[in-house]
Amino acid sequence: MPDLPLRSRVDQILLTLCIIQDGPGFVNRQNQQNQNTKFVHFVDRQNAKHLLLYYQKETIGRNKKMRINFDMDGTIANLYAVEGWLPMLRAEDTTPYKMAKPMVNFSTLARLLNKLQRKGYEIAVISWGSKVASAEYDKAVAETKKAWLAKHLPSVKWDAVTVVPYGTPKNLFCFSAGDVLFDDEAQNRNGWSGKAYDVGNILETLKAL
Ligand SMILES: [Mg+2]
Repeated sequence: MPDLPLRSRVDQILLTLCIIQDGPGFVNRQNQQNQNTKFVHFVDRQNAKHLLLYYQKETIGRNKKMRINFDMDGTIANLYAVEGWLPMLRAEDTTPYKMAKPMVNFSTLARLLNKLQRKGYEIAVISWGSKVASAEYDKAVAETKKAWLAKHLPSVKWDAVTVVPYGTPKNLFCFSAGDVLFDDEAQNRNGWSGKAYDVGNILETLKAL
């Protein structure tokens, strides 16, 4: 695949691996709304790590475009303000992910993201599934998160939406020192090799990029 840009080549490799591993292992779905969006959902907690490491190895240090990544729960989606969210998640109910309210002004966020994309940034989501979850629930959560993004930020054409099992190191998706992460979890920010920000000033930080 010599003519494709690196990220596309990596995506091709990843997609191929996902197809090979599909069935009990991996599920990979292209986002129906936007053909440029890569929607990757790893359902196999044991094998996902190997695939993620492979993905990182193929991409790190060679990607030209800087990427701005967003966590969802507690960063742009107010999951923890949904009444009864924890017992519902424990009962493998996806309702709290649907009910979560946006945490910043999404008209402004969408406008800024579209502008940054025109400036050459990639825009992505890296989100964990629920802490205690069956493979089926992981899958349902990933689909719900994807639908939430489509509902609340319909004009944003995500370059990648990645939902990984709870606890997966997000730094696996940091491909250059300029890559940005917005995340409410200190451990994710501390483990990030690029630039990591808490959730207090998302819009202001984006305006300054
Ligand atoms: Mg979070």
